[in-house]
Amino acid sequence: MSKYVSVDHLKFLLDKVHDIDDVLALPRFADYDKDSIEMLLDSAKQLADKELYPYFIEMDRVGAKYENGTITCHPQIEKVMKMYGENGFICPHFDYDEGGSQMPHVANLALGFISTAANNTAVGYPGLTAGAAGLIRSYATKDLFNKFVPKMMSGEWGGTMALTEPQAGSSLSDIVTSAKPNEDGTYNIEGQKIFISAGDHQCSENIIHLTLARIEGAPAGTKGISLFIVPKYHIEDGNKVSNDVSTAGEFEKMGQRGYVTTHLVFGDKKNCKGYLVGEANRGLKYMFQMMNGARLEVGLTAAAIASAAYQASLQYAKERPQGRKLDGTGGKNINADQTLIINHPDVRRMLMLQKSVVEGCASLLILCGKYLDLSHYAESEEEKEKYHDLLELLTPIAKTYPSEMGRVSTSNGMQVLGGYGFTTDFPLEQLYRDIRITAIYEGTTGIQSLDLLGRKALMKNGAVLMSLMTEINSDLSTANTYNELQPYCAQMEKALATSQKVLAHLSKFAMAGKFEQFLADATIFMELMSNVVIAWQWIKMATAAKQAIVTNQMVKEESFYQAQIHTMKFYFKYELPKVKSAAETLLNEETLTIVSEEEAVKAFA
Ligand SMILES: Cc1cc2nc3c(=O)[nH]c(=O)nc-3n(C[C@H](O)[C@H](O)[C@H](O)COP(=O)(O)OP(=O)(O)OC[C@H]3O[C@@H](n4cnc5c(N)ncnc54)[C@H](O)[C@@H]3O)c2cc1C
Repeated sequence: MSKYVSVDHLKFLLDKVHDIDDVLALPRFADYDKDSIEMLLDSAKQLADKELYPYFIEMDRVGAKYENGTITCHPQIEKVMKMYGENGFICPHFDYDEGGSQMPHVANLALGFISTAANNTAVGYPGLTAGAAGLIRSYATKDLFNKFVPKMMSGEWGGTMALTEPQAGSSLSDIVTSAKPNEDGTYNIEGQKIFISAGDHQCSENIIHLTLARIEGAPAGTKGISLFIVPKYHIEDGNKVSNDVSTAGEFEKMGQRGYVTTHLVFGDKKNCKGYLVGEANRGLKYMFQMMNGARLEVGLTAAAIASAAYQASLQYAKERPQGRKLDGTGGKNINADQTLIINHPDVRRMLMLQKSVVEGCASLLILCGKYLDLSHYAESEEEKEKYHDLLELLTPIAKTYPSEMGRVSTSNGMQVLGGYGFTTDFPLEQLYRDIRITAIYEGTTGIQSLDLLGRKALMKNGAVLMSLMTEINSDLSTANTYNELQPYCAQMEKALATSQKVLAHLSKFAMAGKFEQFLADATIFMELMSNVVIAWQWIKMATAAKQAIVTNQMVKEESFYQAQIHTMKFYFKYELPKVKSAAETLLNEETLTIVSEEEAVKAFA
């Protein structure tokens, strides 16, 4: 059995780095403690070893097949959905009286990391179902909740998010799917949705599409978009009756080939009914709840794929002999034994880059999970608001950094395997194909970066960013108490000062109304801020490791904690300096991408 995740590292994050006792002490989570959560992680790993990991490659090879208007996916998906349903894994964060187990989000995220690293294809189906059920729970009536959610939580019915249309991808204001009111309170839905994940397959008895549409006469743009529940089937007297949702096709893809991506047509026969969720014209606001959750999930998917790539390449590097060491024991001496490739510094660099990215991302995602819990259940309204805002600020980074650097990390994993990495004999080529989508769906990197710089960084006149800086500075004060960590704290302080300088520079354009200039290089700003945020995670992890060693509160061998400190040093030597070059670009006022349309034509001549 190949290793795809470090459960020990997840436990270290929950216990020592992000101290989830802050969350577990809240009355809502009275039935949980650290031991019970660690036991859940161990059982999730066992289940993933048995039901998810063995099917990972097969699901890619079998793919999804479209024939005569229906799609067939790997049959194990049905078993996974039922298994998730029976074990209460689909919406474990729901209240007890809703059928949930009031599990903290932070624990659910850690469990998701394990299962996604095992098989990123299979977990998409229950994941989307959970998001759709959550949206119904938050905004629809109790009747609609009772009509749809229990079957979704049991894994019998699947769920989707149906936003994208051929002309409306990044810009949802251009949605044209229409909704016409009926006398019975339902709406007739007509339109097409493309790229809908898990939109049709044989493994769920019914599929519930959370669909964005425009009610006739609604205002133009985002203020006229409403949210509807559109089931594939109505259930009448226990029988399934078609709701006129047809499948026009399945997109053949580069990766995640077992995770179906559909082209859906609603109301081809003018007989597709939808149920309005909440108030009319507030659909996009509601959908943002699902999208924010889904953005964290996409970040988690990317980090988990990179984790599987790291573990596979680490295992290979420990077993593959090639060449001789440069340290005098080998070199050009052909009679010396071949060395394992893990002994070559360049291979170690590739492995360490992966470790620094994977564990840095895992730390950020667990922190976001903690903030999510505190934003809902912290004791005071003030605290709830603080953590809600911090989460809003960090979400675009938690989606984008794992997607972009996880891909680079996975590519390094493939490189460690040399020629074998490019073959189907090893999982690296599939992981590399699978991770590529994460920078595209749920808002591309470009769109996330616009969100970070254009909305989040200046939210509440910059007060939220200041609150983040306060959190970072507080962690730096603790880290600074250890001599070994002081040089890195100093480097971090410089990076923070650089980020402030860059933001002050860019804000001048916003204040002058020059929005194109303000936002033109938002993606470079994202790179800069991501580096700062991940460096912060490494300061937190190295401090927690140091504390565990100094106070002799280690639950693993000391080398595990020393490796955390070593990897922090690696990140600060190889990755954090990228802040400087990003800042240089952002402070340079030469405008090469802001030109007139005619000049642009010439620029690409
Ligand atoms: C495999 C897969 C699964 C998907 N699953 C779902 C799903 O379940 N539900 C769903 O609703 N959708 C889904 N999508 C759709 C996905 O969210 C969109 O593809 C994505 O949001 C990008 O939209 P687009 O493809 O129309 O690209 P476009 O919006 O046309 O973007 C093309 C390029 O232009 C850039 N761009 C666009 N607008 C701007 C701007 N204003 N400023 C700067 N740059 C800009 C983008 O960053 C991108 O680089 C899925 C897509 C895929 C491929």
